Amino acid sequence: MHSVSLWWVRRDLRLIDNPALNLALESSRTVVPVFILDPTLLARPAEKRQAFLFNGLRALDRDLRDRGSRLIVRRGDPRVEIPRLAVECGAGAVYAAEDYSPYARRRDVSVSRLVTLELTGGTAVHPPGAVHKADGTPYTVFTPYSKAWKALPLSVQAAHPVIPALSPVPSLAALSVPECQALPDFPAGEGEAQNRLRLFLEGPIFNYAEDRNRLDLDGTSTLSPYLRFGMLSPRQACQAALLAARTAVSETERRGAETWLNELIWREFYISILFHFPHVLRTAFNPALVRIPWRDDPRGLQAWQEGLTGFPVVDAAMRQLRHTGWMHNRGRMVVASFLVKNLLIDWRTGEKWFMQNLVDGDPASNNGGWQWTAGVGTDAAPYFRIFNPLLQGKKFDPEGAYVRRWVPELDRVPARFIHSPWQMPLETQISTGCRIGADYPAPILDTAQTRQRTLAAYRHSKANSIGD
Ligand code: FAD
Repeated sequence: MHSVSLWWVRRDLRLIDNPALNLALESSRTVVPVFILDPTLLARPAEKRQAFLFNGLRALDRDLRDRGSRLIVRRGDPRVEIPRLAVECGAGAVYAAEDYSPYARRRDVSVSRLVTLELTGGTAVHPPGAVHKADGTPYTVFTPYSKAWKALPLSVQAAHPVIPALSPVPSLAALSVPECQALPDFPAGEGEAQNRLRLFLEGPIFNYAEDRNRLDLDGTSTLSPYLRFGMLSPRQACQAALLAARTAVSETERRGAETWLNELIWREFYISILFHFPHVLRTAFNPALVRIPWRDDPRGLQAWQEGLTGFPVVDAAMRQLRHTGWMHNRGRMVVASFLVKNLLIDWRTGEKWFMQNLVDGDPASNNGGWQWTAGVGTDAAPYFRIFNPLLQGKKFDPEGAYVRRWVPELDRVPARFIHSPWQMPLETQISTGCRIGADYPAPILDTAQTRQRTLAAYRHSKANSIGD
């Protein structure tokens, strides 16, 4: 038993179901919650995600103060600041939820040389080392990974999560969290995360298998930013999915809950891929596809970034990202396919843009999503699968409500032209106030031609790769 310990908050901004906090409370009389503003991480351009983090830290501090504790915030290199604070308050140990990204792992190795650092689970339900093949090697294909994941124990807990009792924090110098913009679509904090989970479990989860692909419906949980920063425990989310599957009253409902659980397992699959194969942050997982002759196309890239490609569903999704910091999963797949397989721009350029703009931007899931869509990753979509934006729009936004919401220029365009406004007769363009090339761009490319160009580029890499 220590008299004092530190709970080092990193990606677990919550009190409910928090193994690091719980272990700290069990092992010490006084627990000092601390967050280090790390200039290396803060230097990465990601305005909205940082705002979400700062708002989340303020919310965590409020929750702690409500229970007689508070959050100590310091700024600097954690390898200096954590040992310094440990000495300052006489802490016998530091407790933290293990973070599996390459930067975090290097940082934690350095810190553990200077203080007693106890790492716990909590970032994933099953840590990357726990899910492996019989011979001990990691899975690189999702389906067998998910079967092995599901075979590991996970209890279905009661619905009322418990907040532990906290101790007062001794008087210590602390910085205040920097001021930042509010994000109206994503109020930060554990309370909001619990609310979203509750609302999702009350209805949408049961239709999730069908509705999750529809751009025009609110069929998904929008919990990704909260899971990204641990404002919600992934174990609580998975347990809730299991319970929903068990209490479902129809096959549709059960399928909805099981499909949602599967998505939460995709998150852990990509954590595991990045843990075991950190080189994916630099290059394609598939060695046959590392030599694709990418195009340099600054104008095409800019049109994509600004949502001005002339393809409504692509533009709507890119503008949703710009305005809110979030994008629907179907949108992510469509815009990623467009950048990589129509514009033939390197998937890493898109990966970087997403990391700069996403509130939920996460190296593992984002890299996994980009490599999957580009067809160069583990268990990826076949490289010859190229989404057609027009057909994707018709299928997943049938009336064009999503497009109209994010691309107001197209608001009055009739439904039959909403995904191909360039096909509108001139008089319709005039009567709806949407002249192609003036009010809204003409398509920047021909999807049939660019498809052939992409297939040739991928074949080129296959033919020229080492060992082929
Ligand atoms: P729901 O559909 O409600 O799913 C529940 C949770 O499961 C999500 O919150 C998320 O944590 C997880 N999840 C769902 N789908 C996936 C998936 N395909 N891969 C990994 N985890 C998943 N997700 C991120 O959290 N951060 C990213 O940076 C990110 N980048 C992506 C980039 C691309 C190109 C693609 C195709 C997907 C990316 N995703 C990313 C995955 C997915 O798009 C988002 O997790 C999802 O849209 C979030 O919405 P939601 O919370 O409503 O998800």
